[in-house]
Amino acid sequence: MARIETPRRVRGTQDIFGEEQRRFSHVLDTFERVRRLYCFGRVDLPVFEATEVFARSIGETTDVVSKEMYTFPDRGGDSLTLRPEFTAGIARAFLTEGWQQYAPLKVTTSGAVFRYERPQKGRYRQFHQIDAEILGAPEPAADVELLVMADQLLRELGIADGVTLQLNTLGDAETREAWRAGLVAHFEAHRAELSEDSLTRLDKNPMRILDSKDPRDRPIADAAPDIDAYLTPEARTFFDAVTAGLDAAGVAWTRNARLVRGLDYYRHTAFEFVTDRLGAQGTVLAGGRYDGLVESLGGAPTAGVGWAAGVERLAMLVDEPAVEHPTVAVVPLDLSFETIAMGYAANLRRQGLTVHTDFRGNAKKRMQRAASADATHVIFVGPTLIEGSVTIKTMATGEQRNIGAAEVIEALR
Ligand code: ATP
Ligand code: MG
Repeated sequence: MARIETPRRVRGTQDIFGEEQRRFSHVLDTFERVRRLYCFGRVDLPVFEATEVFARSIGETTDVVSKEMYTFPDRGGDSLTLRPEFTAGIARAFLTEGWQQYAPLKVTTSGAVFRYERPQKGRYRQFHQIDAEILGAPEPAADVELLVMADQLLRELGIADGVTLQLNTLGDAETREAWRAGLVAHFEAHRAELSEDSLTRLDKNPMRILDSKDPRDRPIADAAPDIDAYLTPEARTFFDAVTAGLDAAGVAWTRNARLVRGLDYYRHTAFEFVTDRLGAQGTVLAGGRYDGLVESLGGAPTAGVGWAAGVERLAMLVDEPAVEHPTVAVVPLDLSFETIAMGYAANLRRQGLTVHTDFRGNAKKRMQRAASADATHVIFVGPTLIEGSVTIKTMATGEQRNIGAAEVIEALR
């Protein structure tokens, strides 16, 4: 008979295990704690949406929509897309679920997102994001709150020192129109030197050229005019309020006038938290204000601001989290006490104790395994349980004594 081949793991996906998984969980647990400190709720949304949810909000000319989406017809013939990010789905839910009544709505979410990219270190096809958004708040204080929250998250993960907040403003609609004209004039003058992708961008979204990673585009992008000369007084006031808020909260930032975001609907604040510890994949957290997005999905004009961070990239930066050790291991003295020992272990766990058990071998073998699991104590369950006592061994000293079965919890405190 032919040998059956094991299926492969799909390129760009991950099986997260062991130390890697502990780092991953540590990022998610810390995010969960921090979002509560800021009174952000949590939402959980579908992994796939109607394709137009992303196409209309993220913008047809972005890399994400034009090259990276996992789009497929379902069996009923509808075009669906695996979410490449969270913001569009949250905006869709805001409209379809009537969440306007909760505005300003402060929410977080996290989970898997999908992009068809060239996999490399820190870049996957299925990866994970944590995400925070405020919908229905046009005030710069909302931008500040989200940035301060991001900063606290990085501090609590112990990685704030190696990460820099780069901040920019993309102005209001009037600013952008004027800046766009300035950019077009500049790029037109260098048409012959631009990459093919940037020539397309020049027609559809010239700002995007500033974001190009193509070395042919970089010198031209770097020499392009800054937005500052085009800022309306309103846009300038907004940006000043954001930076004043950051200063008041003690959040360090640097201006990066070249920073634009991948999405079409960004306005005013745009930012990235960047590190040089991850090579080319140095952006760990990014976001900004997207006041036009909800409207692009057919809703009433609604302000929005938010950010997303790659869980894998944050996990690569954090120190290795400690392995959790069991407090005790429950070991039956011989096989005839196995069932009763399992019952006893269940009892301890119901009282909140972390208990190691295993399924085979004599008491000596089991004790060895308890030692490799780093249990601090071993409880031997044997005939004395009938009179209500067990034997407890302290692993560090080897000391062993009999103790009332009901007193174990007290004794271990
Ligand atoms: P990049 O420039 O690295 O492609 P991006 O601008 O496409 O990033 P965003 O859409 O802003 O990224 O997503 C937010 C965050 O998600 C990024 O800052 C990064 O930490 C993470 N991220 C983006 N794409 C990937 C990926 N393919 N694999 C792992 N993490 C990713
Ligand atoms: Mg990308």
